[in-house]
Amino acid sequence: MEFKRFGNKIVMRIDKGEEVVGAIEKVCKEQKITLGSVSGLGAAGRVKVGLFDVLEKKYYSKVFEGDYEITNMTGNISTMNGETYIHLHITISDHDMRAYGGHLNEAVICATCEVVIDIIDGMVDREFNDEVGLNIYKF
Ligand code: FE
Repeated sequence: MEFKRFGNKIVMRIDKGEEVVGAIEKVCKEQKITLGSVSGLGAAGRVKVGLFDVLEKKYYSKVFEGDYEITNMTGNISTMNGETYIHLHITISDHDMRAYGGHLNEAVICATCEVVIDIIDGMVDREFNDEVGLNIYKF
């Protein structure tokens, strides 16, 4: 993984064999980013995505293995209890150009991944919300 910072924006490349969520988290910690947005695209060989079941208040996940385009990856950076908190969603497409998507747990790159991080000077923390069962923004 390599990146370059241009003011409040970071352009990064995640390489074959590297995991996306961890790579973004590493850059955020290194650059002391506490708030911002993430967008990206690329190609992944293993993707674990989740769906939050609102009634059960729990995540169901599924692993996709093979050749997948990351047609879109979008997300945000915040903090929870002062620690970096990365929240990403992903849409991937297969050989038939069918798309699948969900909450991104992990994605291992099989070719390359190009990410832009937009940094906001500030901090928004999260807290667990009992009613929905998720860590939501706390203002
Ligand atoms: Fe999510």
